[in-house]
Amino acid sequence: MTTIAYDKPVEDLVAQLSATGHVTHDAYKKTSVTIHHNAGIMTHEDILRAWVVRPSSAHFDVDGAGSVAQYVKVDEYAWAVGNTEGNQFSISIEMCNSTLSPDWQVSATTWQAAARLAGWLFAFEIGARPDSNNFFQHDHWSATGCPGPYIASIWGQVMAAAQAAYDSFVGHSSPTPAPTPTPVSPPSSVLSLGSKGAAVSAMQAELNAKGFGPVVVDGDFGPATQATLKVAQAALHLAVVDGIYGPNTQAALAAYSKPLTTNPALVTNLQNDVHVLPDGKWGNGTDVALTWVMSVAQSQSLPGDIKALQTWVGATPDGFWGQLSKLALVATVRKIQGSLGVAQDGSVGPITLAAFNKARVANLNKF
Ligand SMILES: [Zn+2]
Repeated sequence: MTTIAYDKPVEDLVAQLSATGHVTHDAYKKTSVTIHHNAGIMTHEDILRAWVVRPSSAHFDVDGAGSVAQYVKVDEYAWAVGNTEGNQFSISIEMCNSTLSPDWQVSATTWQAAARLAGWLFAFEIGARPDSNNFFQHDHWSATGCPGPYIASIWGQVMAAAQAAYDSFVGHSSPTPAPTPTPVSPPSSVLSLGSKGAAVSAMQAELNAKGFGPVVVDGDFGPATQATLKVAQAALHLAVVDGIYGPNTQAALAAYSKPLTTNPALVTNLQNDVHVLPDGKWGNGTDVALTWVMSVAQSQSLPGDIKALQTWVGATPDGFWGQLSKLALVATVRKIQGSLGVAQDGSVGPITLAAFNKARVANLNKF
């Protein structure tokens, strides 16, 4: 099935939109939803015809009757918001207008159906409750008149409707994306590698909502979920980082209310600390440099590529790990500690490690 497993009918126009070529079949883990208007009173098929000639696409359209059509697979890159990051990480919903310029009104039937669809997507695709950090109007991403002054004027109602829909979907378990029934663990039980069911889905959604993901919300506690849980345990300063969702981890995660946010200025400082290109983006190259430096400083055991490590700590890359290299490593750890805002003692203890893991979780590949 190419459309979502929604609990209302979804017209499948995915193949026909794909035939226009105005979509990029690259998959991304979506983290937000963006609302548009048609700038017209159009049917689902009118939209498709418009996108045949105009290089545009969006994941969904909600028509004047509140019916839903899907044009692009949820995880794929739609040509929708005029911004690469937005097209990669946001799910776009078009809405039919009920009046034209200057107000561009949208009927309550239509916007309420769009808000309900958004709530479902937040519950089952994104794994976070909609708020101002992840539920957007098109003009969040680029300069545009979309979705028009009327929607802007009632945005608080649209947001509240999406939140209410999300709450109703996560509050009961009927439309799960998994088609086959799986054993359901009680919510308070200990979850670990191999656990399956609604309690695992809830834990995965909570990890995403609190900024430790992205992890796929599939109710299956696999290695990726375990790795994400370990990162969360380290970032939450838990004494035991074992990837097991027991009472201590449950309590710590429940008490942690603020999602981690990205911090490009911090990333730039850390990149300067390890002599990699300071572009403010914690990608894989930056991650290798930082995690190797931290790991060697913590364990005092050397990786194979000594020259690379010497480059990162600002020592002469001669492949000989002598006293000057060791001093350079300690100096680099002090700089990293300064960037992280912890005591600059030059050794990687639990506080430094937790601060580092928290920064890593918040920024790794989030750009
Ligand atoms: Zn738009």
